[in-house]
Amino acid sequence: MQYDIIIVGAGPGGIFSAYELSKENPRLKIALFEAGHALEKRHCPIDGEKVKSCIGCRSCSIMSGFGGAGAFSDGKYNITNDFGGTLHEFIGKKQAIDLMEYVDTINMEYGGEGTKKYSTAGTRFKKICMQNKLKLLDASVRHLGTDINFVVLENLYAELKEKVEFYFDTPVDSISLTEGGYEVHCKEETYTCEKCIVSVGRSGSKWMEKICGELEIPTKSNRVDIGVRVELPAVIFSHLTDELYESKIVYRTEKFEDNVRTFCMNPYGIVVNENTNGIVTVNGHSFESPEKRTENTNFALLVAKHFSEPFKDSNGYGESIARLSNMLGGGVIVQRFGDLVRGRRSNATRIAEGMVTPTLAATPGDLSLVLPKRILDGIMEMIYALDKIAPGTANDDTLLYGVEVKFYNMEVELDENLESRHKGLYIIGDGSGVTHSLSHASASGVYVARRILEKS
Ligand SMILES: Cc1cc2nc3c(=O)[nH]c(=O)nc-3n(C[C@H](O)[C@H](O)[C@H](O)COP(=O)(O)OP(=O)(O)OC[C@H]3O[C@@H](n4cnc5c(N)ncnc54)[C@H](O)[C@@H]3O)c2cc1C
Repeated sequence: MQYDIIIVGAGPGGIFSAYELSKENPRLKIALFEAGHALEKRHCPIDGEKVKSCIGCRSCSIMSGFGGAGAFSDGKYNITNDFGGTLHEFIGKKQAIDLMEYVDTINMEYGGEGTKKYSTAGTRFKKICMQNKLKLLDASVRHLGTDINFVVLENLYAELKEKVEFYFDTPVDSISLTEGGYEVHCKEETYTCEKCIVSVGRSGSKWMEKICGELEIPTKSNRVDIGVRVELPAVIFSHLTDELYESKIVYRTEKFEDNVRTFCMNPYGIVVNENTNGIVTVNGHSFESPEKRTENTNFALLVAKHFSEPFKDSNGYGESIARLSNMLGGGVIVQRFGDLVRGRRSNATRIAEGMVTPTLAATPGDLSLVLPKRILDGIMEMIYALDKIAPGTANDDTLLYGVEVKFYNMEVELDENLESRHKGLYIIGDGSGVTHSLSHASASGVYVARRILEKS
């Protein structure tokens, strides 16, 4: 079967490139291949009762399917060049922000209207953070919430399915070059196209590595972020979250001069498992609807690890640490901060007696047996620093879930069009290593669609 354009991966990157292409040129014949299920079939079996932890489904509904890794996410669209990716390095700061704003207007049109947009501009917290050796990063953030994010995806799919041929549960095995374009090989069929947009996200990182090897596209990889997810009573952070929703705060540790940062803050939210290539790590999200709120807020504290020569496998390093927690806890480990400070493991009784009711059923244990000292020291230092701007953060009952790993896809060599060394083969979203967030990934999709439209 012959298409003008084949898109691989139906995450935000793939969806927004399909959206822009089909809107601007309805005559284009577009196919979208997705390894996971259609949106309505995506369902994680963990219910906290019969299925308490990850059972390793063949296609992980949290990470794969229409909507990509973002489908059950908190739907926080951060509009900023300060974090979430390096798209601006390829396309310029203004264009990157304009595209993120454009994505926001589409999200509003397709069901997000009425959701709140927060901003750090002019906030008094900048000064308070600075006075306590913390840096608050600039951003405005649209919080769709897991529920509205899902509605937006449903509406986008309803429109796109009329214009784009979707192939769900159809992982692409390989891509090869032809004279006029590309062949996309799936298990039973081969499809051809003139142009191919690859947007396979984090779950497709190993596959991306393989494809880059086969097509001789240069890559590099040297970063992984490792840490824990902190869960505490929402009131402790409410002065920050009520005004900013998400505050991205960076702390430079005294001991090692490492940067530790808050990441993915979920006011009144829940902590969840995440399965990446069979390794169970932790993440979190929250809901826009007040009925679904919990009494807790959660956020990650991550330490960035950059490696230098000769070590190249930064993701392998992160995986090994996550595997250690899976080995000791059968999945994610949870520990009270007070137990960590006292050098003892947490147990079910001490957690049940504590003031924070865990929102994820994890195994009580000892994170000091899992995390390297340098990383653990950095996290503890930051908890004490945060305690100064949000007193109570360093309470004994604060829960730490480990490990949270932010794998960075290797960076694929791309030009200013996000085009690989093979003309017509574009690599976008988290799978390219250029983006690490919903808004950057979506913006990269729109950007590439416009480049293709300009050329056709
Ligand atoms: C629980 C959770 C919460 C998150 N919360 C937020 C948040 O609030 N804000 C934020 O900015 N970011 C958040 N993120 C990150 C965000 O979801 C990603 O940055 C974003 O989804 C990246 O988009 P993408 O299109 O590049 O890739 P993805 O969303 O990962 O989509 C890639 C798609 O490609 C498919 N695929 C992979 N390999 C193949 C193949 N060989 N053939 C066919 N299909 C393939 C996958 O199944 C997947 O559906 C969260 C992530 C998770 C897991």
